[in-house]
Parts: sequence; structure tokens; C-alpha cells
Amino acid sequence: MKNLRDFVEEAQAKKIAIGHFNISNSDGLWGVFRAAQSLGVPVIIGVSEGERDFIGVPQVATLVKSLRDEFNYPIFLNADHTYSFDRVKEVIDAGFDSVIFDGANLSFEENVKITKQCVEYAKNCGREVLVEGELGYIGQSSKILDGIPDGVKLDQKDLTDPKVAKDFVDKTGVDMLAPAVGNIHGMMRSGVDPKLDITLVGEISSTVSVPLVLHGGSGNSDDDFRSAIANGMAIVHINTEIRIAYKQGLIKSLQENPDEVAPYKIAKPAVISMQKVVEEKLKIFGMK
Ligand SMILES: [Zn+2]
Repeated sequence: MKNLRDFVEEAQAKKIAIGHFNISNSDGLWGVFRAAQSLGVPVIIGVSEGERDFIGVPQVATLVKSLRDEFNYPIFLNADHTYSFDRVKEVIDAGFDSVIFDGANLSFEENVKITKQCVEYAKNCGREVLVEGELGYIGQSSKILDGIPDGVKLDQKDLTDPKVAKDFVDKTGVDMLAPAVGNIHGMMRSGVDPKLDITLVGEISSTVSVPLVLHGGSGNSDDDFRSAIANGMAIVHINTEIRIAYKQGLIKSLQENPDEVAPYKIAKPAVISMQKVVEEKLKIFGMK
């Protein structure tokens, strides 16, 4: 079977994107897997530090591997935003396919130093593990927002500079880069996030040699996705919209069947509503 690097390179060459969807439990895993399977496209499961602590680090690695093996299916596991070398090492040792070291809040020099340390550990671990670097702060939480998150700036001068991005990639040796191009983590309450700077996506993509990753995809328009993907985004992250789908599915289920006590029956509509959101996104990303 082709590995994650093969799929990311293929996506970059074809100007399409692989979907990256965060989960907190096996409900999310099945929702994402069934969506990908129904379309026959590769998919990446993401777990933040909080999400992976809830489900269990070795446990989530085993669950994803079990789907890959049983169905002979290209489903991969990424350690989303990881804030220390120790936690990067933990997931590489646990068998994850890729990891993001997020030093976007650090000085450029410190970000380079720790990212490079992560890349070296991944290269020497005895199997293929991709490392993604982060440059430019876009906020941290996947939730509904009433305003742009503190510390996030959407002025042109605060977005990722293509020359700095190239310097970062050259110095660290990362396999993928997540730039700040007007994207934000979380999603505005209105459901409409600020527009992405597509010109900048294209400039960064043609300046650095590695595939780009779009974070904070929840709330961005379908047109913005298509343009960003056509200009070099090879992976797109969605979290908040699946969280909302899960919660709404659960509320509806509890309201419609107030006497139901079987967790698997209560949760089933929530799994289906997550699956629907993931399917809609995967169709836009164009892997099919
Ligand atoms: Zn992110």
C-alpha cells in the first residue's frame, strides 16, 4: 500500500487535497472512516494533545491501524498541534504516521531549533514518519468564535512571508508546512470565516519545496477551499464543523428518544451527522 508521503505528493501534483479530520473517540473515527470509505479516498485522522489524551495515545494508534489492516484502506494518523519535543517523541514511538510540531508561538530561532530536533528524531525512528512545521499564529482552539482569536492578526504584514517560509523549511527539513494565510482555528459564529489570501498561498507554495497544509478549514467557503487547493494546499484540516455535527446529532437523538439508555443507540445519529459533514468536505477537496 502507498504510504502517506505518496498520497500527499500525489495530491500536490494533482492539485487536490487529502482531508484531515479530528476525532475524540471511536464515534468520530467511524464517522470519518465511513465517509472516506463511501467515496473511496485516502483520509487522515487527527488528534490534538487533548483529543489524544482522552482516547489514549497507543489506543488511537491501534484503532487506526486496525482499520487500515482489516479493510486494506489508506487511513493515516496525525498528531495534530504538538507543543513539545517530548510529546512528538511519544507519538512517533506509538506508531503515528505524521506529527505537527507547533512552534508558531515561539521565536523563529526557537521554532527552527525544536522543529529540527523533531525532524531528526522522525528520520531516525526506523519507519516513515512525516513532520509538519508551523509558521505564523492562527489561534489554538477549535470552537465557535465571536471574534478573531487573541494574538491572531489578519493584516498582510502578519501573514507568513514566503522568504521566511523557505528559510524555515530549508533550516528544519520539514516534510510539510502550515502557513498563516488568513486562516483561523475555530469558526466564526456567523459560519463565515475571513477570506483566505489565495495569492499568498500560491507564492509560498512556489517558494518552498514542500506541500502546504491548510489549518482551521471550518468556516471557509467552498470556493476558498478550491482556490487554496489549486494553489498548493495538499492537506485541509477540519475540526470545529465535525464537533458541531456531533453535538447536534447527540442533542437531537436525546430529544427524540428520551428513554433510550444504550450509549451505542444514543450516539449513532451523532456518528451519521459527522459522516455527512466529512463526506461534503471530501467531495470539495477533490481526491475523487
Ligand atoms: Zn490546526
